Amino acid sequence: MADRALRGMKIGAYSMESEEGVEFAERVRITFDCVDGHVFTVPFAVEAEIPALWDCPECGKESLRRNAERPEPTKPARKVRTHWDMLLERRSIEELEVLLDERLELLRSGQLRRRSA
Ligand SMILES: [Zn+2]
Repeated sequence: MADRALRGMKIGAYSMESEEGVEFAERVRITFDCVDGHVFTVPFAVEAEIPALWDCPECGKESLRRNAERPEPTKPARKVRTHWDMLLERRSIEELEVLLDERLELLRSGQLRRRSA
């Protein structure tokens, strides 16, 4: 299977030692330019949707398909709200300190036990 791409094959469905049951697709080689100057090509089936970005096989950095526009991130970069952020929207630090003290009191007095599985 020297210079051909595989398609319609689930990994593990067929042995790679045999080409039985494997369908070969026409393919194209797409050139990518790494930010570090590496140039490499990746084979794609002609009907495949070609991604604009690919990881460089040399250095692992993001590489842009030649002549492709750098894709905009699908969502505007937005700060990820953590549980802590959400907690702070509902409680002030002062309130949390009081709650923490209460819980610590309970813990130290043995009234708070770790939930057993
Ligand atoms: Zn590279």
